[in-house]
Amino acid sequence: MEFRLIDRIRERTAQGREDVRLGIGDDAALVAPPAGQELAIAVDTMVEGVHFPHGTDPADLGWKSLAVNLSDLAAMGASPAWALLALTLPRKPVEQVQQFIDGFAEGFAQLAQPHRLALIGGDTTSGALTISVAVHGFVPPGQALTRAGARAGDVVLVTGTLGDAAAGLRLLQAGARVAEGDGRAAYLIERLHRPIPRLQAGLALRGRATACIDVSDGLLADLGHICEASALGAEIDASLLPRSSMLLGAFDEVVTRDFALSGGDDYELCFTVPPAQVAEVQGDLARLGCGATRIGRMVEGAGVRVRDEHGQWLETIHRGWDHFA
Ligand code: ADP
Ligand code: MG
Repeated sequence: MEFRLIDRIRERTAQGREDVRLGIGDDAALVAPPAGQELAIAVDTMVEGVHFPHGTDPADLGWKSLAVNLSDLAAMGASPAWALLALTLPRKPVEQVQQFIDGFAEGFAQLAQPHRLALIGGDTTSGALTISVAVHGFVPPGQALTRAGARAGDVVLVTGTLGDAAAGLRLLQAGARVAEGDGRAAYLIERLHRPIPRLQAGLALRGRATACIDVSDGLLADLGHICEASALGAEIDASLLPRSSMLLGAFDEVVTRDFALSGGDDYELCFTVPPAQVAEVQGDLARLGCGATRIGRMVEGAGVRVRDEHGQWLETIHRGWDHFA
């Protein structure tokens, strides 16, 4: 049975790539990494009830489990090539498992295909619903974006808008359904389930951003990682945090600010750029469709400090999502 499931996955995610010499079906995949490139490799695991609510649409899970990994490649300035998928599925009647797999593979393929990402192998086992995806991408030697490298005086920017995914989760928990109600709820829940990895932005930032990270655990936590890795602090202005009109229309100002500061799952890029290059970078990212907003700057010191609209420092007790706290 397991083999037929794997066949279903393979059929639905087929992607011809010259550099895949042997894909799904043998004991290991064989690939030919391009000469002269570095490999960027990342893995992320999503557990039902921890990273996504029970009953989440399998197609959304397929999309998101890949999206969160592509986001890691985007944050490194790498372009994606191959993926591995480890699926742990609860024991259920065969038709139900097949239905799950078909939906999952469809959502996965919707995101994989435009990026020409090939699923080259994985593992399938039974247990609590858990999805692990590993991705491999290419980056020219020395050009990867890392969390280290920011300098005091660099401007802090973020792509897209922040807080939408956290708002979507709040709405889901409050019993909202996408089908009913207004377009706002649908938009915010879609932002939670179908994040868009900022791969083009990551490529555009090569050689220009001094540090970069994707916002998965919330801006404060993730910008905090840049601070730590770069041995600096950051000062940001809450009034500058980019927030969608959908978010601002659905919650009051203080709530949207908290979502934007501490909500996870946005998968936007947060990065630092020397002041002289900010305008040009913003122009390029605007052309790519996501845009980039300046929200603050890097300073000597440690940790992230946030100013409110009156110039007062906020108590930043929000530390983002920590699985072991
Ligand atoms: P083995 O016991 O040798 O690891 P498996 O039965 O686990 O073999 O896997 C058979 C083939 O199917 C392998 O090529 C493996 O990479 C692939 N595979 C297994 N599960 C998945 C999955 N969920 N997604 C993609 N490929 C998979
Ligand atoms: Mg195996």
